[in-house]
Amino acid sequence: MRPERELAIETRLLHADRSPSDGASVAPPIYQTSTFTFESPQAMALGAQTPQHAGFYTRHGNPNHAQVAAVLAAVEGGEAALVASSGMGAISATAVALLQSGDHVVAQRMLYAGTRTLMTELLPRYGVEVTFVDQHDVAAFAAAMQANTRLVWMESPSNPLLGITDIARVVEIARAAGALTAVDNTIASPINQRPLELGVDLVLHSATKYLGGHSDLIAGAAIGSKTLIDRIWKTHIVLGATLAPFDAWLLLRGLRTLDLRMARHNENGLAVAAFLAGHARVRRVYYPGLATHPNHDVATRQMRGFGGLLSFEVDGDFDDARRVVERLALIRNAVSLGGVESLIAQPAAMWPNIGAAETAAAAAMGVMPSLLRLSVGIENAGDLIADLDSALSTL
Ligand SMILES: *Cc1c(COP(=O)(O)O)cnc(C)c1O
Repeated sequence: MRPERELAIETRLLHADRSPSDGASVAPPIYQTSTFTFESPQAMALGAQTPQHAGFYTRHGNPNHAQVAAVLAAVEGGEAALVASSGMGAISATAVALLQSGDHVVAQRMLYAGTRTLMTELLPRYGVEVTFVDQHDVAAFAAAMQANTRLVWMESPSNPLLGITDIARVVEIARAAGALTAVDNTIASPINQRPLELGVDLVLHSATKYLGGHSDLIAGAAIGSKTLIDRIWKTHIVLGATLAPFDAWLLLRGLRTLDLRMARHNENGLAVAAFLAGHARVRRVYYPGLATHPNHDVATRQMRGFGGLLSFEVDGDFDDARRVVERLALIRNAVSLGGVESLIAQPAAMWPNIGAAETAAAAAMGVMPSLLRLSVGIENAGDLIADLDSALSTL
């Protein structure tokens, strides 16, 4: 489709995947097939060599992948996108594609747990050195750069403390050193933040979260220049984290309403954060939309809304926080975030066999025993606040 005018994001979510071959079906068909026929061996050979060919073999590409990729590239403002069977599938393929033995990575310390394990355990086994820095300290990124730094990894807002990285300033530092930059944009979504517009080379997503939005699929994506995405694709088809066609179809269905859902997540997130910040039994609230957030000014500059994810410390210990979770009626206890329904989790409870040493290590990262992470859904904000108020009042 070639529109005469630049289409708005909410329109792109609905139409960026259209192609003349769609025919009469308004809702896209599901290409539930592993493979595709060719008219000649020559045509097939060409299909095998074409990155993300949508009609060769589904590990390489599929029309349902191509539709999601077209929408994601259009809303993030990238040339190309790649979908994977999980956020970690996209993140791991990106790291393995771009790095080799002898390379150095600068990453912020506060990262999604899977990404942190990739950086602390997997990459070092393959001779890649990683330096961790405080995401709020731009000078620390500059100080950590080395001659062999190939990649600077950011996550903003970060999981689970909603830390904010000054993306444009870190990009300047990385560019001056000739390193690529990547931002995990899962928690913001492209409605609230578009890192490519801030000069970042690659955007990563757990599409399991806001992009899918309905807690019914696991998926991931990488978005950037065609050159970089083709390079990641070559590794991706070897690692094999292929998104199932049906899950790609569901993800596209979720994406259609991303703009509408994010507007409500933003509204509800702010209302619930403000309520918790004023509650006598809440010690501290972590939400970039509150003026008390240490990097609220940076968040305001680089984000259009602050989303539905927040964390707060109950005024009490681990067991007090656990009791709050148990007493909630509407808000359910589950990991993950970004779905239409509100979910709460106690990060300190997620470490297996948590003992004194693990608790101390978590606290050193800022994850206190009484911390609760709340993914605010699209329910009525008053109903959510009443649920929280009654659970907190029994402390
Ligand atoms: C959930 C999440 C991931 C991992 O995504 P999966 O789809 O679970 O593999 C990566 N980064 C962030 C910020 C996340 O919240």
